[in-house]
Amino acid sequence: MSDSLPPEATGLLTVDLAALAANWKSLKKRAGGANCAAVVKADAYGVGLEQATQALAKAGAETFFVATFDEAARLRTLLPTVTIYLLNGLNAGSAESVCGIDVRPVLGSMEEIDEWEAHADASGEEAPAAIHIDTGMNRHGITLAEAEALAPRLVTEEITFTPTLVMSHLACADEPEHALNRVQIDAFSSIIKKFPGVPASLCNSAGLLAFPEAHFDLVRPGIALYGGRALNAGENPMQPVVKLEARIVTIRDAKAGTSVGYGARLHLRRDSRLAIISAGYADGIFRAAGSSDNKKGAEALVADIRCPLAGRISMDLIAIDITDVPPDQIRRGDLVTLIGDSISVDDLAGHARTIGYEVLTSLGRRWKRIYHE
Ligand SMILES: *Cc1c(COP(=O)(O)O)cnc(C)c1O
Repeated sequence: MSDSLPPEATGLLTVDLAALAANWKSLKKRAGGANCAAVVKADAYGVGLEQATQALAKAGAETFFVATFDEAARLRTLLPTVTIYLLNGLNAGSAESVCGIDVRPVLGSMEEIDEWEAHADASGEEAPAAIHIDTGMNRHGITLAEAEALAPRLVTEEITFTPTLVMSHLACADEPEHALNRVQIDAFSSIIKKFPGVPASLCNSAGLLAFPEAHFDLVRPGIALYGGRALNAGENPMQPVVKLEARIVTIRDAKAGTSVGYGARLHLRRDSRLAIISAGYADGIFRAAGSSDNKKGAEALVADIRCPLAGRISMDLIAIDITDVPPDQIRRGDLVTLIGDSISVDDLAGHARTIGYEVLTSLGRRWKRIYHE
């Protein structure tokens, strides 16, 4: 593996764009009659907006969701004709710029709706936009009462902008048994009846997988595209997309009873061999994934053997206990695998008491990125 990496480079992030495309196609199939968008916010969950969206568009995706205006602008330059929704809505005073790049804001408050309407009125533009209705998350979206009051104005065509989507977002879809799912699905099913003719969308990845009855007209998967786990329980049906490998900068012997790393929180129980790799928390390998005398940490694959991270994770370096790896199978300069093969992004996340989403979006800029078509 080390041949694919220039000798100066320290870590390798390989993105499998074929797996990304295959994941989108398999989710589209699961969506049945509904359209399947692609959520590409946060630099396409850290894998790279440009590369990911080109691959997704080639696979057939026509509708994309981003979070911020900058992401929308980057995407618009890349894909001049696709539909782009701006999840975080309309920043005050930004209507003209948003319209200018042909992006549809997801309007999440009456203030945003009023501002978008005023812009549509003044400019005479069609001003397409999504209306986000909060069905139980208290985050983004107008209330059900506000939606009820707004709906008649839409039916009588009094509204000056063009609602192209009415949507909501599930708070607990990763736990399909959670009672709030049913509450939200029911509330959404009733409120959209007041918006006849406007396509409806409720499901993220987990909702798509767990609630076929709630796909409505458009599903909005994000994490599942990137191979991350959407549902807390059961098998993850998606193909992994990200592989993460880091370079061994040195291999050293260390005596039983001595400690490893900052804080001296891990003491070696036997004479050990340590591989020190050039990756750390500045590269998104969270400090919480380190180990101590009382806590097991994450693992890395070293010559195909699972080896524990030893001691605290530093900003730029991590120690790995490679005592169990035959010495002739590993040397300075080799790569070890932090994510990939039998270690999923969610395995690493779990050791840091977080979720795959946070690991992917935190990977940072120091990895040398390689894209496989
Ligand atoms: C991020 C996001 C999604 C995608 O969620 P995943 O869990 O990554 O599939 C869908 N809809 C909204 C409103 C989002 O914010």
